[in-house]
Amino acid sequence: MNNSVTKHPRSQELYERACRVIPGGVNSPVRAFKAVGGTPLFIQRASGQHLVDADGRTYLDLVGSWGALILGHSHPAVVSAIVEASRSGTTYGAPCVAEIELAERIVASYPGLEQVRFVSSGTEAVMSAIRVARAFTGRDLIVKFSGCYHGHADHLLVAAGSGLATFGTPSSAGVPEAFTACTRVLPLDDEAAVEELFGREGARIAAVIIEPVPANHGLLLQRREFLQKLREVTRRHGALLIFDEVISGFRLARGGVAELVGIVPDLATFGKVIGGGMPVGGFGGGRHIMQRLAPLGDTYQAGTLSGNPVAMASGITTLDILIRESGWERLEQIGAQVERSLLPVLAAAPFPIHFVRAGSLFWMSFHDAAAPRTAASMSPKALERYGALFHAMLDRGVYLPPSAYEACFLSLAHTSADVEQLTRALRESLAMIQ
Ligand SMILES: *Cc1c(COP(=O)(O)O)cnc(C)c1O
Repeated sequence: MNNSVTKHPRSQELYERACRVIPGGVNSPVRAFKAVGGTPLFIQRASGQHLVDADGRTYLDLVGSWGALILGHSHPAVVSAIVEASRSGTTYGAPCVAEIELAERIVASYPGLEQVRFVSSGTEAVMSAIRVARAFTGRDLIVKFSGCYHGHADHLLVAAGSGLATFGTPSSAGVPEAFTACTRVLPLDDEAAVEELFGREGARIAAVIIEPVPANHGLLLQRREFLQKLREVTRRHGALLIFDEVISGFRLARGGVAELVGIVPDLATFGKVIGGGMPVGGFGGGRHIMQRLAPLGDTYQAGTLSGNPVAMASGITTLDILIRESGWERLEQIGAQVERSLLPVLAAAPFPIHFVRAGSLFWMSFHDAAAPRTAASMSPKALERYGALFHAMLDRGVYLPPSAYEACFLSLAHTSADVEQLTRALRESLAMIQ
């Protein structure tokens, strides 16, 4: 597991150099391979479904920049849009047409959404959605669910999914208790706990936020009834329901999970896919809520690079291709193909591995029990096995997420041949670990 020194000499060298000037050598912790051991691969270039590392080795990419790259890497139309847009300027600090064009596409796609505001990351989108929810309701409390990740804003860094589960920390240093005092954390999949909390503190709750398909602690598929309960309880108590669709938005359906389950939240947050690989986040909802934002209302929210013309061009082009090429149908087909192909291989594994899937998202769960709906921790043995699998797959040219708690992401660039390569690599890799 730790022989990366010899296998990836150039990455090793870059990692050591990075560690001198960047904490841990990375700009986002899960990239550091801490959960699987070894040296993180430094990427030299990427195209379609493939990554090429600093040592010149090619990998089938099942991370896709954590879901941002729904068309695959450096899609020619997206690259052209980015190049063309940047020729006309990279940022104006003043409004431009591209902002309207991306907003129009999102508003036309997502149920109940009348207005959207752009930011530069999912974290900012969630932070801002919560601020406007608190302003709108005049209440302080936020309810989140254990295992759901909503970015790294202070008050949400509680029981927050993979990065933290992986490191076994329930929360982060540097976050005063007073900052999370207005956050309530509930288990997923538990209607009674929701009722109980609202019974006690309902009049103080501004919003319930959930990833409607939680995808940051493996893939914890929720029952529709549970989401419906959240819709009903929040409405009854005058609180808002926020769907964090930063991963699921424009990935699982054009209208996100809201469309799939037929439940309309009051606010929704976006990121990843809507930037097509550029830094874009967004949050939106009904006009009556969104009008609370400055300059119309009393709720401040801003961003030097928000609505950046280059990033907007990338997002617009990505959404247009998805819409034009029936992207969501094809993503479901490739997901189903992966499922059919991997199931027998996983069934033959020497220890339990469960396959969980929602469209183009899938998770090979190393839990003993099948398909958990709540954020249970895996055994140290399971985590060790995942680490071994990760490296065996890497040796066979497949780049899985470097954590047992992360889902795999498929893109429109993945083909039947890739499914075959993945299946073969998995069969061989599983034969090597016990
Ligand atoms: C990735 C993610 C975020 C944070 O987005 P960043 O762009 O990384 O800040 C928020 N919510 C969910 C559900 C995410 O998956």
